[in-house]
Amino acid sequence: MVLPRLPSIRELIKLYGLSAKSQLSQNFILDKNITDKIVRCAALSEVTPLVVEVGPGPGLLTRSILDAGVKNLVAVEKDDRFQPTLKQLAEASEDRLKVIQGNMLELSHQAIFDKAQLQPTTTTTTTTTTPHIMGNLPFNIATPLLLQWLHMLAGRQGLFGLSPKGAGMTLMFQKEVGDRLVAKESTGHRGRLAIMAQSLCDVREVYHVPATVFVPKPKVDASVIQLIPRANLMDDQQGAYLTLENVLRYYFTKRRKTVGHITRRLMKEMPQSKEVVAELEELLDFKARPEDLTTEEFCQAAKLLHRHSIITLPL
Ligand code: SAM
Repeated sequence: MVLPRLPSIRELIKLYGLSAKSQLSQNFILDKNITDKIVRCAALSEVTPLVVEVGPGPGLLTRSILDAGVKNLVAVEKDDRFQPTLKQLAEASEDRLKVIQGNMLELSHQAIFDKAQLQPTTTTTTTTTTPHIMGNLPFNIATPLLLQWLHMLAGRQGLFGLSPKGAGMTLMFQKEVGDRLVAKESTGHRGRLAIMAQSLCDVREVYHVPATVFVPKPKVDASVIQLIPRANLMDDQQGAYLTLENVLRYYFTKRRKTVGHITRRLMKEMPQSKEVVAELEELLDFKARPEDLTTEEFCQAAKLLHRHSIITLPL
């Protein structure tokens, strides 16, 4: 399954005049050692049922994914200038790569299944082989994309419904966003993003990538973050996850106050929450600040509130 010799990405960029567009967050990686290393972190192989790459650009990470033996890769790229290079790669891949020109934020996952000739209901994915989403994400849409995927993961929708285990993700973020995703309680970057991601996935930084690796060089470093769905702290209930989102928004907009203060304020705004306050006090340290609570504590509180239909909608 080795790709035939292709022109280098540098040659292709020159040939097609592919100057980077900053409005599409285009920072390319031109060193195959780096893209190979990112793909090794994701442990992809010929048994991975489907890989979706977001923003392949000129396609070096795409080549590394194909070199790992992946048989079913769908790459979604918004910028049509990359279509010729990606088409060339698709032909060289003997149909293992399919390309969709589109905006990943708006694309229906059904379009990906259609391209990959997979159907969620007919797929025979086993519990050991899950689909994977990869990408050196466009930084301007990385966080909204991840929030959309977490939402879908909680409800096992779209790509996350193909396998009982959801789908793994190995994604490049700006370093600061990566730090926020892996942040543990009582650390500087702790906030809503960490708790939302960690409520559904094991989240870890697998690779710190210095800014010097990219062309053009961005102002900040990047990090590759891996998110592997775990036995769901939210009991596979999308409703409870939505409540968690609302709870986090409520507690973190008042993050300098204590958890007790914020909870009492919630009781004032939603009198029915009085019936669970004793239980909440058992679950949460009322003297702590929101960033000191663990992901588990927030999940337990969200489940309790969800069971009592409290704060299931944003206030
Ligand atoms: N994968 C390439 C690499 O590592 O060299 C390019 C990464 S570059 C940071 C981000 C890529 O995402 C660009 O090719 C850009 O055109 C593409 N992109 C930007 N917004 C997008 C969107 N909404 N949907 C799909 N692709 C998008």
